[in-house]
Amino acid sequence: MLKVEAIQKSFGEETVLSQLSFTLPSESVMSILGRSGSGKSTLLRILAGLERASSGQIFLEDQEISHWTPQKRNIVYLYQEPLLFPHLNVFENLAFGLRIRKNDPALIHDRVHQMLKDLELEGQDKKMPHQISGGQRQRVNFGRAIIIEPRVLLLDEPFGALDVETRHNMQELFQELRVRHKMTAIFVTHDLKEAMLMGQRLAYMQQGHLKIYSDRSEFLTDPSTEAGREIQFWEKMREEADKKRD
Ligand code: ADP
Ligand code: MG
Repeated sequence: MLKVEAIQKSFGEETVLSQLSFTLPSESVMSILGRSGSGKSTLLRILAGLERASSGQIFLEDQEISHWTPQKRNIVYLYQEPLLFPHLNVFENLAFGLRIRKNDPALIHDRVHQMLKDLELEGQDKKMPHQISGGQRQRVNFGRAIIIEPRVLLLDEPFGALDVETRHNMQELFQELRVRHKMTAIFVTHDLKEAMLMGQRLAYMQQGHLKIYSDRSEFLTDPSTEAGREIQFWEKMREEADKKRD
């Protein structure tokens, strides 16, 4: 379980996160929505250890990890840009995290081939990053993060740059791998539908506060999430279409 207690973060005079607390049970995914600039990336970066909170504590399975290095935390922060190693082929990009952890070569071989299968990238293992498509690079990036079995996976608008079709495929892939790899994750997105699809838990970041919803209906009826407005929009569209048909 991940537990965050009273995290505060200021950049100079600007308070970005204020007294933010939540818990995330193991093997569950929380989606976080929120406007640009509301502090979502800052929160994820603090959890990953890439940024230091001004105050507050982070616990992972009852251990206080606030002062741990990113490596020791084993929390992976995944950004939307697929930052693959340009000089390593697909296989070696996937194997990288296992190699630096000094895993046995036979085990690396098996795990990478299983991952290639999971990602539907069989036969692409010898290609260099520039020889595969953007969507495939995204898959490799994603596979590289989960192959090391991080304790928590932090996804920061990971599919934001993808076309609708590829995005849909990645959402399905994420859901499959989430179950298979028993992932604990936080999924930041500005897409309402994606938030609903990806997370069993839903949260909304607003002015440095994180509001956690007890269920989907509470989330859908909260005016600040704009879900209601979206529903109204589609209902109005349907009514108009129905009227035209009559
Ligand atoms: P989001 O991911 O929700 O769009 P961010 O966490 O990136 O928001 O940013 C939240 C606020 O913190 C913004 O106002 C941003 O300008 C500010 N901020 C983020 N990182 C820094 C930094 N390193 N130095 C100063 N201000 C920052
Ligand atoms: Mg951001």
